[in-house]
Amino acid sequence: MSWTDRQRSMLRAMGLAVWTPSIGEAEPEPGPPQALASEAAPIDVPPRSVAASPTMERPPRAAPREVEVIDLAGADAGGVASMDWPTLRAAVSACRACALCESRTQTVFGVGHPQADLMVVGEAPGEQEDLKGEPFVGPAGQLLDAMLQAIGLSRREGPPEQQVYIANTLKCRPPRNRNPEPAELAKCEPFLRRQLALVQPKVILAMGRFAVQQLLGSDEAVGRLRGRIHTYEGVPLVVTYHPAYLLRQPSDKAKAWEDLCLAASLL
Ligand code: SF4
Repeated sequence: MSWTDRQRSMLRAMGLAVWTPSIGEAEPEPGPPQALASEAAPIDVPPRSVAASPTMERPPRAAPREVEVIDLAGADAGGVASMDWPTLRAAVSACRACALCESRTQTVFGVGHPQADLMVVGEAPGEQEDLKGEPFVGPAGQLLDAMLQAIGLSRREGPPEQQVYIANTLKCRPPRNRNPEPAELAKCEPFLRRQLALVQPKVILAMGRFAVQQLLGSDEAVGRLRGRIHTYEGVPLVVTYHPAYLLRQPSDKAKAWEDLCLAASLL
């Protein structure tokens, strides 16, 4: 078979060598150990317009406006469900609803197109995210960017068809990168729920165990939930591994590629 440009890009992004036949030499069928792309049917990603002007939803450089500190224990979770983007961002920035506010450098809100077709949901900020105020930075973020680029998507620019929106389940970094606690996830859930309601994505990609638990309410392992289409409030949701896990377990990158192709096929 012939590799598509997108598959070649993905293979390179995954750190796998892309064999290119010389002129006149037939390209052999890849064997099972290298079956990363061959296992996933080529996906027809719809043609994407490049004429529309990008509207980025980026972390503000100016100081957030004054807002009342949100106590998410309130009956309507501090009115989060009716907030617009600026109010929501300011509310997250001022939030002290759980103990993680004590150790954070800053909150990590989200990045990307506010009406993106694909919304990526991760877990909790790590050290570099806490310092930069943006989700998925560092090596795991670079891997995610490369995976997205392989199917023509970006967090930085483009219309809603090309630019994703990325957010985490928790907006503050757990100390020493420990796992989020159920109470922390519960306190922070209204913010993610509102982000999803504002973006109104066509597809959700849930990366990692805690994102899956938050969105699907399931304790099943990612490996048992991936490979099929779930729904979150009527929106198709695909489960896959977190990029940080893939850096530790490269043998599962092929499965992540399949999951990404599955999500792309739904756009
Ligand atoms: S993790 Fe969420 S609920 Fe806890 S303080 Fe940060 S923004 Fe508030």
